[in-house]
Amino acid sequence: MNLMKLSALELGKKIQSGEVSVMEAVCDAMEAINAKEEALHCFITVDEAYAKKRAEQVQNSIKNGELKSLLAGVPMAVKDNLCTKGMRTTCGSKMLEHFIPSYTAEAVQKLEQAGAVLLGKTNMDEFAMGSTSETSYFGGTKNPWNQNHVAGGSSGGSCAAVAANECCYALGSDTGGSIRLPGAFCGVTGIKPTYGTVSRYGLVAYASSMDQVGPVAKDVSDCAAVLEIISSFDKKDSTSIQRPALDFTSALIDNVEGMKIGIPISCFDSELDSEVHNAVLTAAERLKERGAIVREFDLGLMDYAVPAYYMIACAEAGSNLARFDGVKYGYRTEAYEGLHQMYKKSRSEGFGTEVKRRLLLGAFVLSEGYYEDYYLKALRTKACIQNEFKRVFSQFDVLLSPASFSVAPKADSSLDNPLKMYQSDQYTVSANLTGLPAMCLPAGTNQNGLPIGLQLIGNRFEEKKMIRTAYTLEQAMRRKGEKNHVKTV
Ligand code: GLN
Repeated sequence: MNLMKLSALELGKKIQSGEVSVMEAVCDAMEAINAKEEALHCFITVDEAYAKKRAEQVQNSIKNGELKSLLAGVPMAVKDNLCTKGMRTTCGSKMLEHFIPSYTAEAVQKLEQAGAVLLGKTNMDEFAMGSTSETSYFGGTKNPWNQNHVAGGSSGGSCAAVAANECCYALGSDTGGSIRLPGAFCGVTGIKPTYGTVSRYGLVAYASSMDQVGPVAKDVSDCAAVLEIISSFDKKDSTSIQRPALDFTSALIDNVEGMKIGIPISCFDSELDSEVHNAVLTAAERLKERGAIVREFDLGLMDYAVPAYYMIACAEAGSNLARFDGVKYGYRTEAYEGLHQMYKKSRSEGFGTEVKRRLLLGAFVLSEGYYEDYYLKALRTKACIQNEFKRVFSQFDVLLSPASFSVAPKADSSLDNPLKMYQSDQYTVSANLTGLPAMCLPAGTNQNGLPIGLQLIGNRFEEKKMIRTAYTLEQAMRRKGEKNHVKTV
């Protein structure tokens, strides 16, 4: 039996009760990884020896009664931009191909304290820049539902690994939709919490004002359970927020009686695939049946979200990635004359095309003469979008929309046209510009058998309302026999 087909909480219960050992779970995960990795390439690094050693430790702690978490002993994976002490952390880049961190990211550490067993590090777009996972230096991840299609990005490895039952759950990061877009394409559930909820300590920065770590899992309950563990106030992250009531699993309530759900009609433009459109309408009906008041409304400024996001993200990336200069971290060119040539050659050879494009754009929008026309204008646009969402959340509890305008595109079809790829983030980036919590959840498949993803957005600090809505939808779909079975490749 492949125990990875179970949800994390189901497997965790079996481990706590002694029905299954942690080693059995790890062996099953390794078997699945060995069978599928060649075709899918979800992982950049798999560390079987580490996982087995860790399985023994965790098993002992469970036996002694020291570890009581329902996630103790459950095998999981972590996106390769989260530092793991002693395990290489590449960010999908040649620049960090051999980088071994000396410390572990706070979110990963929280999970380890709860007894998580790390299997390895998942594939991603280089430095989390991309929407397909194809910009990885190590080669792209394939979609487990159909390998001719992309897994989505940038947390494509984490989402595909969960969808393909190579692990029970995973961590991803979301700066502009990188959990929600691949989550939608792979038919899994993922959450980007309110900015500041999960520590960014040990997350390799892309655009610090928007980066958040979040869970990717097989269902809403697993996501809530993982989020509950990784959320914390952390002095090591200056944007970390002290917030009460992080008991997200208490929101797993199958009822949305009286809740006000808004659907932004601007998302129903001509670009939107008709099957995705129908999935949103069906979800709205399900929520109405469960007592919600669902209404369409006009969300302004949405045309400006993608341009503002890319200006800000590239500007911050330009500053964050300046540290990769061949001196302190990662790759250094072999032959050079003088310091300047060393910088230049190390960066030219260490970064891929998409990263360079963003760094150039970032340098441009911050440069004298353009700063005000581009970067400041983007910041002002962001403030206007924030105000617009404030207005909207005075009327609604949760927003429902598609996560993407289509299902997963074919592999090798996106990179030639970067602007078109940027546009694919149109539904997701607003939540990052505003810092609001958002999540994706599966809503069946299209006629070609590819998953369709919904998005829910909540008000600041109101993950619980969002989780409750997602859980109600998930339960309704299950009752209708629409359970989105995770694909076994
Ligand atoms: N696709 C977006 C980008 O390339 C989002 C990336 C992310 O969330 N890390 O910037």
